[in-house]
Amino acid sequence: MSWFPKLFTRVAKPITSDAPLFFTNTLSGKKDLFSPLTAGQATMYSCGPTVYSKAQIGNLRAYVFSDLIARVLSESGYRVRRVINITDVGHLQGDGDEGEDKIEAGAKKEGLHAEAIASKYTKLFIEDLSLLNIDTNAIQFPRATEYIKEQIAIITLLEEKGLTYRTADGIYFDTEKYPNYGVLDHSGPKLREEAFAEIGRRIKTNKEKHSPADFALWKFSPLGVRRQQEWSSPWGVGFPGWHIECSAMARALLGQPIDIHTGGMDHIPVHHTNEIAQSECAFGKPLARFWMHQAFLTLSGEKISKSLGNDVYLSNIVKESYSPLSLRYFFLQAHYRSPLSFSWEALAAANEALERLTRLSRRIAEEAKYKATPSDTSRRVIALLRDDLATPAALALLWEAVRDEDMERSEQLGVIKAADAVLGLSLLTPSVKLIVPESIQRLIEKREEARENRDFSTADALRIHISNSGYHVEDGPSGPIVTSRPG
Ligand code: AMP
Ligand code: ZN
Repeated sequence: MSWFPKLFTRVAKPITSDAPLFFTNTLSGKKDLFSPLTAGQATMYSCGPTVYSKAQIGNLRAYVFSDLIARVLSESGYRVRRVINITDVGHLQGDGDEGEDKIEAGAKKEGLHAEAIASKYTKLFIEDLSLLNIDTNAIQFPRATEYIKEQIAIITLLEEKGLTYRTADGIYFDTEKYPNYGVLDHSGPKLREEAFAEIGRRIKTNKEKHSPADFALWKFSPLGVRRQQEWSSPWGVGFPGWHIECSAMARALLGQPIDIHTGGMDHIPVHHTNEIAQSECAFGKPLARFWMHQAFLTLSGEKISKSLGNDVYLSNIVKESYSPLSLRYFFLQAHYRSPLSFSWEALAAANEALERLTRLSRRIAEEAKYKATPSDTSRRVIALLRDDLATPAALALLWEAVRDEDMERSEQLGVIKAADAVLGLSLLTPSVKLIVPESIQRLIEKREEARENRDFSTADALRIHISNSGYHVEDGPSGPIVTSRPG
């Protein structure tokens, strides 16, 4: 007989709600009611990782955040088209126009070609997203190097409009010529200038720049040096600046304007500000209608960052035998706009809470005979999630509901389904294919036989034996459901 965990087959009707959908829009500086440009469909572009090493868990917070947006949009009835770009060229160590190209530096360090480095870490990145229950089949992952022609076309347009100038090392955007420069960054030009001055103190900057805010659109390959990745262009052999790739890929794949553009808060003063300047000047219309930004994940008070060297990876978490979804649960405990401090103790607590919640949810599903009904509580959960993704409040309400012995089981299941459609914790279905050792597989089969023969004391004894070996078995509607690390 088949022992492998089955997906629930009886699908209840989705719990519907007419709660409005609100997102905090960095551009307006307030919570705005969401409505898309095209009825029934939403487009979203998320700035992707620079693939010179594995994504650290701070980066992963950015993509769990955009996954929450995608889920709440689909739950609200929108078809979602989305892109996460892969930065495989042009992102310099100074996060602007200075320092070495992170990909070329990574390639040298590992003795591999830039393209091989980018492919290796793109694959690992996408695997990490899948482990976090992000549906990677529903996302396009374009690479910057595949859109060089489109990037050159935008720079040409900007040049034709007289918005660029040339220095010894590249073609720059002249921010003085764009009166709207910096609209996204409500902190104002003074703070931005201070940030540029700080970069200037760390890294040698281009003295020919008219203003510190001006940024490279195209950089020339250094004289006498052959870069691993370089292209000819109307201005000379070189490579695109970091920001132009997003303007080009967003437009090519989703059109302009897009509905939602996401990224970390670090992108507000420079990267996103510059994307807006390029796209809006080139095409005379907004790049995105909603700009959404998530706060940092920190460790001992500092932003987790590959360049600071205080990085933690999803692979470390899995190695410590925690479920990858415990990281997702940990992220959901804080609102996306609040900074979140990582610690192994907090992760262990999240892992334990998730296991308990999963066990309770599956038991409720069984007792409810897999029939879910709506209630005030399920509608409140949906309203919370549609209110700018209030995940901590939604989790609290979910816990309250699953603990409420007086609530109808079918209503409890309704709350679980409504919440998990957005939270994405796989509370009712196993998320990843669990590899169960053969010895455990045999015990599970024996237990099934005992149950079929109504020998429940043997079945119970086998369940305890399986549990002591690190696996948890429960009876689903069409066979046993196996999970790892039971409490
Ligand atoms: P990068 O690979 O540096 O271009 O970053 C990819 C995404 O991860 C961007 O949206 C960054 O804002 C985000 N990010 C990087 N570090 C953190 C962090 N510690 N916390 C939250 N987001 C981060
Ligand atoms: Zn970007």
